[in-house]
Amino acid sequence: MRLAPNITGEDAPKGKLMESIQLKKLNIEDLPSPPSVAVKLLELFDDPDVALKDIAKVIQVDPALTAKIVSYCNSPLIQAARPIETLDGAIVMLGMGAVRMLALSFSLFNVAEEDGGFDYSAFWTKSLALAVSTQSISHLTQMNPDESFLAGLMTNIGEIAVYRQTPDDALTGSKVNSIESVIKHENKLLGFNRFEVGAEILSRWNFPEAVVQFVKDINQDQTGKQRRQADLSWQLASLFSSADATLEQIQSCKDKFHGELAINEEALELLFAAAQTKWIDYAKLLSFRHDGTAMSLRDIELAAKAKMTEISISHVKAQQKIAAENEKLRTTVYRDPLTDVLNRRAYEEQSSQAFARCCRVKSFYSLLVVDIDYFKECNDSYGHQIGDEALIHIAKLLTSVLREYDNVYRYGGEEFIVTLSDCNQEMSLAVAERLRELVESNPLRTDDKVIRLTISVGVVSTEFANAQSVVELFEMADKCLYRAKASGRNQCILMTQDILDSLNFQSTETIEQT
Ligand code: GH3
Ligand code: MG
Ligand code: MG
Repeated sequence: MRLAPNITGEDAPKGKLMESIQLKKLNIEDLPSPPSVAVKLLELFDDPDVALKDIAKVIQVDPALTAKIVSYCNSPLIQAARPIETLDGAIVMLGMGAVRMLALSFSLFNVAEEDGGFDYSAFWTKSLALAVSTQSISHLTQMNPDESFLAGLMTNIGEIAVYRQTPDDALTGSKVNSIESVIKHENKLLGFNRFEVGAEILSRWNFPEAVVQFVKDINQDQTGKQRRQADLSWQLASLFSSADATLEQIQSCKDKFHGELAINEEALELLFAAAQTKWIDYAKLLSFRHDGTAMSLRDIELAAKAKMTEISISHVKAQQKIAAENEKLRTTVYRDPLTDVLNRRAYEEQSSQAFARCCRVKSFYSLLVVDIDYFKECNDSYGHQIGDEALIHIAKLLTSVLREYDNVYRYGGEEFIVTLSDCNQEMSLAVAERLRELVESNPLRTDDKVIRLTISVGVVSTEFANAQSVVELFEMADKCLYRAKASGRNQCILMTQDILDSLNFQSTETIEQT
């Protein structure tokens, strides 16, 4: 609902006012109106001869308001020496200035229902935080503390009008870190901002001139005292309900208070705690829902730090998950699913790099091309399934004896390649022999059979072979394998000058080049 329409468009000199602030897009109907008690109280503000009993009369009309003022006197906010039971008692205790301010503020809070999505309760809770904050630093502008409270409370009143113009794009104060960003956003969106229109509303409602000027200057005098006070109280208030305050926000608040008021961290802690407690007490008194946690500024800062740590931990965890997924992907791309050794793709990518590295550091690189003998017969005699088991068995045997920097690849079918780093001719042949013997002496044992398997191996090392590439090296090793097969299988043949001469070896790469 809207604020009770006691001041209507007709009551106000609308043409003049509208022109004066050029709120061309804004209709009279878009401006909120104050509740009736507030209107009457504001009329009394203008009267210099007003007596306390006149104010009491206005307040008494509203039993809820009366009750709130009496409760206020008995709340921790006042710490009265004795309980106050009547409005008269409250008025005597508080004095004229405080009663007027309080009655007016409390009468404004009367509105707490929804207005097309506008959350009045949240709005007033937030405004209350601004009121308390503004009052807590009223010495900055030498403003009367009661007027400061009222000015803080009314700082955001224009937000209601802004919201009515653009409900979707409106910024709610608690979400915005600075007055500057609010002004920028709203000026861009509407051509005016909440402080301009707020000053206009307050002027229409006959608010005390000091309060109207305070809100007006937030926009008009951006380096003035009023604006600086509003900036500070905005920062402070936005930390009250600070479940999600950022370290940046807290630091900015500290810097501002230090810069403007020469207040150090310790003093700021005290000021913050006092204002925050007051705010929570007010919210309780007025039964407003509030998110105040009564956390000290230091605790809020610790929470923000913890949150940042949490964010970075979850970031690290996410990175680890990605790395694990990448590793898994890499594994599936480069592994042979049957034997779980590296596959041909891995061989092609890794071997040329390893070959190049060995050439660079002038160490030796060797290839062993391993082929299972008569494997077709194995398949034919025992079936494809056993053939698969034989492949797994041999892959395991090959892998079992190799060093960390040596690799086994399944090149295709029943052919494997073993690469050896830092191995000369002699050592490479010895490794090949060891592998051959291992296979020969470890037949595949199934439930009911013992299947003898042998391998033939072609061996070549860069110690002997002047190969230009790993492809050339492979071709040489393959020739040796062919020799081993031709010479009866189950043997290892090392590339030698004799073999090379007899083969009249010319690499396919060399042939392609010529
Ligand atoms: P050689 O001693 O001359 O090498 O004779 P071989 O029988 O081993 O050679 P050949 O090239 O004639 O036959 C290779 C066989 O390997 C034929 C093919 O069916 C079998 N083979 C290739 N890949 C697989 C596989 O993944 N599983 C099984 N079970 N057999 C395979
Ligand atoms: Mg074979
Ligand atoms: Mg073969």
